[in-house]
Amino acid sequence: MHRLTIKELSAGLRAKKFSARELTQHFLDRIARLDSRLNAYITVTAEQALAQAQAADAQLARGAGGPLTGVPIAQKDIFCTRGVRTSCGSKMLDSFIAPYDATVVRNLHQTAGATLLGKTNMDEFAMGSSNETSFYGPVKNPWDPSRVPGGSSGGSAAAVAAGLAAAATGTDTGGSIRQPAALTNLTGVKPTYGRVSRYGMIAFASSLDQAGVLARSAADAACLLQTMAGFDPLDSTSVERPVEDYVAQLGAPLDGLRIGLPKEYFSADLEPRLAQCVRQAVDELERLGARLREINLPNVGLSVPAYYVVAPAEASSNLSRYDGVRFGHRAEGAASLEALYKRSRGEGFGAEVQRRIMVGTYVLSHGYYDAYYLKAQRVRRLISEDFRQAFTEVDVIAGPTAPGPAFALGAKTSDPVAMYLNDLYTIAANLAGLPALSVGCGFIAADDTPAAPALPVGLHLIGDHFSEARLLNVAHRYQQVTDWHTRRPAGFE
Ligand code: GLN
Repeated sequence: MHRLTIKELSAGLRAKKFSARELTQHFLDRIARLDSRLNAYITVTAEQALAQAQAADAQLARGAGGPLTGVPIAQKDIFCTRGVRTSCGSKMLDSFIAPYDATVVRNLHQTAGATLLGKTNMDEFAMGSSNETSFYGPVKNPWDPSRVPGGSSGGSAAAVAAGLAAAATGTDTGGSIRQPAALTNLTGVKPTYGRVSRYGMIAFASSLDQAGVLARSAADAACLLQTMAGFDPLDSTSVERPVEDYVAQLGAPLDGLRIGLPKEYFSADLEPRLAQCVRQAVDELERLGARLREINLPNVGLSVPAYYVVAPAEASSNLSRYDGVRFGHRAEGAASLEALYKRSRGEGFGAEVQRRIMVGTYVLSHGYYDAYYLKAQRVRRLISEDFRQAFTEVDVIAGPTAPGPAFALGAKTSDPVAMYLNDLYTIAANLAGLPALSVGCGFIAADDTPAAPALPVGLHLIGDHFSEARLLNVAHRYQQVTDWHTRRPAGFE
């Protein structure tokens, strides 16, 4: 059952080949048996999952329910889930039981009837590209457990890749859905900023954060996104605009689709084996009818520095609420209010989160604001303009998702800048608020040693605002003529 697509799961449930309860139990058994090898889940909500499955069975028996009724999925532990611990990967929120559901959670479980298997591991407050900053320990990549699954949605990626959930939610501020999807052979979609509600999604950098999906195929991703997307009066940045029918548009021909290949993304320092996979993937799209052309995005090279000013600035503000009084871990025996704040934050936040708060506070401080924050905002505008210009000439922009395959656990933990550079290709889409996705496009040897394992890599597709349907269809058409997405990691088949 864990090998079936969401469409097949839904059909199986309706045809009574298996009940939602059996299906949920199957996934719970796999989690119990296999997750000790991966650490993908922070919390498994077995009891709740079985109760939800029972309700789904009752609905299905009445001939009611939709395409996700009874389908077992996982939620990144950044989404508030009523009555369930929502830790955001941090000691700060280790004992936080959310009093309400995020809109994404409500849409998927209350409205659509999906079963919640549990909450997935993640980098602390979604800050990281390897899942190693989690208070709950690193997640391992099912393709090679000595390597990272990417981050920050690494738990969701590992769970879906290993068949410990049919699909999962993620969030993406600078690449946290797409980069882990690339490193685990999944399809990961970051929608347009404002397409999916952020209500109840713990804030990192509010002008960049967006919720999305990690799934085993574009068709599965379309199914989930269909339910998640839409206007929400509880999120003032959510956009009031009808949601396209992502599922119905799958399969449309690609004839005449204009794909831009930015010179900046295919430079000489792109790893040759990775370059070859990406090139083969775009050639495949050309055979399907797309037209390729080289384009320029002159300012995208400034994405990483601009992001590492804007994102920490917003984080320093968003995370000020965790002071041991209003929210979060409270230190014992502090003698004054100031000592309570300092000690609670010092104990509750890990090193990377503290680093971001310090950088963010610095770039916003009097005397530095113009030199850093304001300048970064100007660069952000230039990057958006590059894309605006590009989308007058092309419909989709293609390139690699991450600069390489999964790296070894610990390889980049002592060098923050090396870690940050993993998001080289993904960050620009967040700065410009554009939808983007990663789709597995092949496997390359991890290194030059003879025994090096073959590891997945991803093709990155960026579209103009609200072109999710088109992006999903391009990925789907690609998956109809290739079989990368059907490969499963050994030991988790
Ligand atoms: N890796 C990036 C960071 O550490 C992006 C994280 C994300 O998208 N949440 O900020």
